[in-house]
Amino acid sequence: MPANPIIHAPLAGVIGMPIAYSQSPRLHGHWLSRYGLAGHYVPIPVMPEHLAEVLRVLPRAGFVGANVTIPHKEAVLTLADTVTDRAALIGAANTLIFRSDGKIHADNTDGYGFIANIRQKAPDWQPDAGPAAVIGAGGAARAVVASLLDSGVKELRISNRTRLRAEQIKAEFGARLVVYDWAQVGNMLEGATTVVNATSLGMKGKQPLRVPMDALSPGTLVTDLVYIPLMTPFLTEAEARGCRIVDGLGMLLHQAAPGFERWFGRRPDVDDEARRIMLE
Ligand code: NAP
Repeated sequence: MPANPIIHAPLAGVIGMPIAYSQSPRLHGHWLSRYGLAGHYVPIPVMPEHLAEVLRVLPRAGFVGANVTIPHKEAVLTLADTVTDRAALIGAANTLIFRSDGKIHADNTDGYGFIANIRQKAPDWQPDAGPAAVIGAGGAARAVVASLLDSGVKELRISNRTRLRAEQIKAEFGARLVVYDWAQVGNMLEGATTVVNATSLGMKGKQPLRVPMDALSPGTLVTDLVYIPLMTPFLTEAEARGCRIVDGLGMLLHQAAPGFERWFGRRPDVDDEARRIMLE
């Protein structure tokens, strides 16, 4: 059944559980007021057993789309009518478009956000300059791996505490991947020109990521997906070793931009003002 014709300000939101602490409403709200656009972006708390029903109803209630977060990022793939190749490859979606014909389109913009953040902060970054090393093999790591391969990385090393998850990613993403044992994660950094922390270690309230970093070469681009705090212990040590560092906040901002543009009609700027809003 077609969605409502839009005769009011478009609505969008973020679907998750819990959702009260999501930063997305603040970011989209900032962009809406900054550009003087009509629209609203709200947190939408949804239990897993209600997800299918909520997705059916939202388009009929004036919603033009939604972001999706934990625990629904995988489940929405089975409920969407169309799924982009990258979302299918990653196995998760974070952005939904409710089309005017009533169909739900699912995409994953995490990998886009990851690369856009690096390119903004380190414009001369060369993905094919040498091996990339990814620490972690969770949901976010899958998006990072997909986007690094897509950007032209020739050898991608990956290590995870639970080795099986890294092996699974190699099985799905192919021959350019090399799995390192968790005990060998320090060796994985030798000769790498791009290094990524895709674990949740280093996040406020969690242990820091403790990895032997002696093999890291000065000039290596080191980035962290964790953005609270902005300067994780991992980034602090990398910077002390002469590496170029990129914090994770820009990824969060950039991954939000395509959805905002699609729902509200304007590509938002990812700039210092948007960063400041997220840090308040
Ligand atoms: P996830 O699927 O739960 O994966 C967590 C990862 O951290 C796994 O690789 C896990 O290893 C590892 N890990 C957790 N505790 C560990 C420990 N004590 N020792 C060693 N490894 C440990 O989470 P995710 O969705 O991939 O997210 C990962 C991080 O990225 C989170 O901090 C999230 O906030 C952040 N993130 C940031 C952005 C952004 O826009 N900047 C976007 C997405 C995610 P095992 O497999 O062994 O458990």
